[in-house]
Amino acid sequence: MKRVGTCPICNKGELLEFEDKFQCNFVENNKQLCNFFIYKSYSKKIITPEMLFDLLHNYETKFYSDFVDDKGEKFEAALKIVHGYINYKFRNQIVDNVKCVNCDGEILRTKQGWGCENYFNRKCGMFIYRSYNGIAMTEDNVRLLVTGNYTPFFNFTSKQGINFQAKLFVNDSTFQVQFDYSLGDCPKCNGSVLKMEKFFGCTNYLSDLRCDFIIWPSIFGYNLSSNDVEILLRGDQTDVKSFRWKDKDFEGRLSLDENFKCKVL
Ligand SMILES: [Zn+2]
Ligand SMILES: [Zn+2]
Ligand SMILES: [Zn+2]
Repeated sequence: MKRVGTCPICNKGELLEFEDKFQCNFVENNKQLCNFFIYKSYSKKIITPEMLFDLLHNYETKFYSDFVDDKGEKFEAALKIVHGYINYKFRNQIVDNVKCVNCDGEILRTKQGWGCENYFNRKCGMFIYRSYNGIAMTEDNVRLLVTGNYTPFFNFTSKQGINFQAKLFVNDSTFQVQFDYSLGDCPKCNGSVLKMEKFFGCTNYLSDLRCDFIIWPSIFGYNLSSNDVEILLRGDQTDVKSFRWKDKDFEGRLSLDENFKCKVL
């Protein structure tokens, strides 16, 4: 079998040429200790000696435009060794300064959305679609989602035409992007506070706890947003808002008092 070079992963074995791949031969006590291999072709592009040299010495190849996808369309990519496996790398497709919370992979822009580089070799489930219920994701939203954080609140409209507000987050076991309606923890009990039909209220309102914590959606003519309620539930003050009472305008910040009532400071 032809030896093609030293294995870039273990630096001990040699890559040997087999029928369909180049495979590291590093064994000790009859146990194979390195599983690194490079297929002889990726997306119908045959690995050239130059590509092999680049992979073994630089861990990545130059860009080539004659890869062919499942639908028979050509695409441009480089090959890159990531965590011991060959991955595709696309030009201008890496989102700067962010890594996948699940596997530390780069986040890549694609036509359908944003995916972890290891999503494309089925080793990571992180993928964010371009939009959810009609709300287009920005790259700032994507950065929050792939790092395990929540987006800000969005105003969604359900298929039934019902408006609702929710944050988005990535479920860390299924990688589904899910809605979170909770505005924060109830300061009176351990429930969570949701936007209800007529007010912001505690989920334990209907349980045996009968928690009566509520925030009215409007105070002195100012309509509270979900983000305002989130700030109040964290125990913080909002920024300055404008109010109107008995034909007089005034300004102030909102916060919760010791009885958990919303008041203007
Ligand atoms: Zn090896
Ligand atoms: Zn990942
Ligand atoms: Zn409560």
